[in-house]
Amino acid sequence: MKILGNRAFRWALLMIGLFAIIALTTMNVLSLYDLRSRMVEGEEERRVDQLDEINDTIRNQIIDPLRGISSIELETIENSIQHSGQLPDNINEVLMRSAASPFFKDIYFTPDGTDPCTEGSQVYRYDPVNNQIVPTDQYPKLVCDGVGIARTKTKIQLNDFNYRWNNNFEFDTHRSLNLGLINLNENSLIGILTLILNEQYIIEEVFPPYLKNYFGNSEESGVAVWIRDWTNDEILATNDPSVEFNFDIVDHRMRFSGSGFFDNWTLNLAFLESPVSAAYNATLVKNLFVLGFAMLFLTGSLIFMFVTAQRERRLAQTQANFLANVTHELKTPLAVMQAAGENISDGRVTEPKRLKQYGDHIYNESIRLKGMIEKLLDVARVDSGQNLAKAAPYSLHDLMTSYLEENRAYVEKKGFEVKFTSDHENTLCLVDKDHIETIISNLTENAIKYSRDEKIIEYQVSSDNKHVYMSITDHGIGIPKKEQKNIFKKFYRVENSDTTSSKIKGHGLGLSIVKNMVDLNKGSIEVKSNPGEGTTFIVRFPKLSQDSGQSHTSLDHNDNLK
Ligand code: ADP
Repeated sequence: MKILGNRAFRWALLMIGLFAIIALTTMNVLSLYDLRSRMVEGEEERRVDQLDEINDTIRNQIIDPLRGISSIELETIENSIQHSGQLPDNINEVLMRSAASPFFKDIYFTPDGTDPCTEGSQVYRYDPVNNQIVPTDQYPKLVCDGVGIARTKTKIQLNDFNYRWNNNFEFDTHRSLNLGLINLNENSLIGILTLILNEQYIIEEVFPPYLKNYFGNSEESGVAVWIRDWTNDEILATNDPSVEFNFDIVDHRMRFSGSGFFDNWTLNLAFLESPVSAAYNATLVKNLFVLGFAMLFLTGSLIFMFVTAQRERRLAQTQANFLANVTHELKTPLAVMQAAGENISDGRVTEPKRLKQYGDHIYNESIRLKGMIEKLLDVARVDSGQNLAKAAPYSLHDLMTSYLEENRAYVEKKGFEVKFTSDHENTLCLVDKDHIETIISNLTENAIKYSRDEKIIEYQVSSDNKHVYMSITDHGIGIPKKEQKNIFKKFYRVENSDTTSSKIKGHGLGLSIVKNMVDLNKGSIEVKSNPGEGTTFIVRFPKLSQDSGQSHTSLDHNDNLK
């Protein structure tokens, strides 16, 4: 119950850890992107504000000379024209200021009763040299357009009871600024001042320095700005002529706004990659990379720690099981021997046939006990690293032959047919004789344990240019492919009905001992097996070269089978 609880707790901890890593990473990535978009958005807003600023500044500059007109009494205009054919002085003053402004080319005055759209009508042109207005029927068509707009709009304002200004100004796009002059006493329109805008000056002299000042070179600022006449599809000004205008790259578009002011012109802004944003992007990538790496590293170590802990726990458990099993295994033969010995020493068994039987029991059990103890000692030696190979040149053929001489009877007694083939009697390897014996004996024990009806064990010794091979084949139950890589691990047993129902006894140690001894002797081991067909273990050792005598070897340590 406690173990289960611990297990669930460990899994929960792992999940929480993983969740925390993912949450932290996600949070960081999001905040990085957030920061980036804030920076970009902030930059975009700032640039758009700058467009507004340019817009307002130019507009104010244009209107500037006309300031103060609201406080002039305009009612005197009509009288003044009637008597002297001139505008009052205070109006002339405003006109003089306006004529001096580079924004205006010409100034016309159209009294309310006059329609400049009828050819030959008489309007007034302001003459800045003499500071007076001169009647003329020669005026540009622009006057007709401007007056038309201003008259209509001003009359609409006059109908509005709340409109308390003495003038109303209207832009005819980028062409003229028109000022409707109002008689506040009579609530009527006196006339219209038309100030013709100097389009060329605005385009050539005003826009370029503004764009340059605010947006600089697009390479430095990362921004390209175009002022475009959309009615004529024409670029009037840009901060960087090297960047071609293209609708696809424009991020922000606005009109010059207010009172039809430059209505046909748009301001277009494109965000190109500036050094700042390029640097930021590079930092972003770097940050993401480091973050990703840290995340992978953290996740990796967490999982590694978890898996290691799991494995150690499993190992501890297997070792505990092993100890319990071993104790049991050791006790069983001892109990048999004890009982048999007791019976004999008591003198209860005297009959020679029974005596022999008891003697056999004691003998067989002591052999089993000895085998067990030897195996345990092997494991202990392997674990403590004491099992160094006492290597000397041996012929595997001879070692195999002597093993079989000693053990053939034992194997055959178990009902097995033993076959031995070898064509390499004199080929030598540098190995520890005892280790080879342990290897053969363990593989033989397994072949016996895991065979069923077809009881044949084939021993073979062969060689090629570099290696000598020793193989042991049975026709037993075989090992599933996916288990084959695990069987050499300590305490590992293939789980099947035979092993789990403990029909076939074992502790998962034999092959780990074998593998260890093969390694100690610079060899390698391979298993070939098909479930139901049988198993072959092939052990390979480097050949001792013919001319190297007894003290030199041609060991090829890296050249393993696997
Ligand atoms: P065990 O004490 O279980 O035999 P080993 O380390 O000797 O331990 O073997 C590990 C596992 O490999 C065994 O549990 C068995 O499932 C499998 N195995 C080993 N040798 C053979 C074989 N000759 N035929 C089939 N299975 C084998």
